[in-house]
Amino acid sequence: MAGDFKTAILSIDRTLIKRKTLGIVQVNLGDTCNQRCVHCHVNAGPEGKNIMPRRVMDDVIRFLSGSKGLMLDITGGCPELNPDFRYFIEKARLFTEKIIVRSNLTVLCEPGMEWLPEFYRNNTVKLFCSMPCYTKENVDKQRGQGVFDKSIRALNLLNDCGYGKDKKLEIDLVYNPGGGFLPGKQDVLEKDYRQNLEKYGVVFNHLITIVNAPINRFKHYLEVRGDFDEYMKLLINNFNRDVAADIMCRNLVSVGWDGILYDCDFNQSLGLSMRDSAGKIMEIRGGGLSDIEGKEIIFENHCYCCTAGAGSSCQGALVKYVS
Ligand code: SF4
Ligand code: SF4
Repeated sequence: MAGDFKTAILSIDRTLIKRKTLGIVQVNLGDTCNQRCVHCHVNAGPEGKNIMPRRVMDDVIRFLSGSKGLMLDITGGCPELNPDFRYFIEKARLFTEKIIVRSNLTVLCEPGMEWLPEFYRNNTVKLFCSMPCYTKENVDKQRGQGVFDKSIRALNLLNDCGYGKDKKLEIDLVYNPGGGFLPGKQDVLEKDYRQNLEKYGVVFNHLITIVNAPINRFKHYLEVRGDFDEYMKLLINNFNRDVAADIMCRNLVSVGWDGILYDCDFNQSLGLSMRDSAGKIMEIRGGGLSDIEGKEIIFENHCYCCTAGAGSSCQGALVKYVS
């Protein structure tokens, strides 16, 4: 089946296989995590050993300093567990005002992490927080026993710090399906979340929905249930031509813990690194915008998760519903 997605994209418009102007640098600080979720596409967990060193962080900062206006999107694993997490944000802040951290929330409840809410506030970091449901049962099933209660506690701490209340302190929640199905409409789910989380005193800005990528741990989850082929069929049958021009790899680059460049986080998890014209693996070190913009994107069939239904990206659905 390899190549089918590329053919589908090419049939819409040949220019869609190329990158546009770069807007977002997404940086993976490593695969250590205090959780081990069943849908995790980066296979993160407490045993993760690939931690971005300061040397690579400095390369990213140099890149940001040479290309003003880029958004820095920090992810992991659990990025807060990188020992140089504070260093990285404080340095990067000098070159970009737009910093996002993707937090699993429960890390705020780990011993020794009490400084996090204030640190986020002081650096006006925008937060994208994983919250795959508003019920304890579903969250604990996907993310582990006790995760729902800890997530609510963390959200309460962030709200008390001004998140979701002060307009400079934005917090979005991230929904992903608990199995081999597509998310419901983003704006409808947002209303449900708002109503259901109100009783815990939780406020947030937006809910974003993400389609699970059929790779790594989630692929294994589907395979052991005999659902992998069905899920791929679902993604392919729901291919939405109208969102193809907006797939995130056209304006985002993903940086691995060791500085290697990828078209996105999913390609990173699969080891599909970007290559220069000589076929050499590309790295953030010494690179600039001109090395990245206009390059052809590496597509495989997991890419159908980005164009299924309302489309999907690290910023949520690509179709914005109005209901
Ligand atoms: S999905 Fe997020 S919180 Fe869960 S194991 Fe992976 S990195 Fe950690
Ligand atoms: S999986 Fe990555 S490379 Fe493929 S379409 Fe999505 S963002 Fe682009």
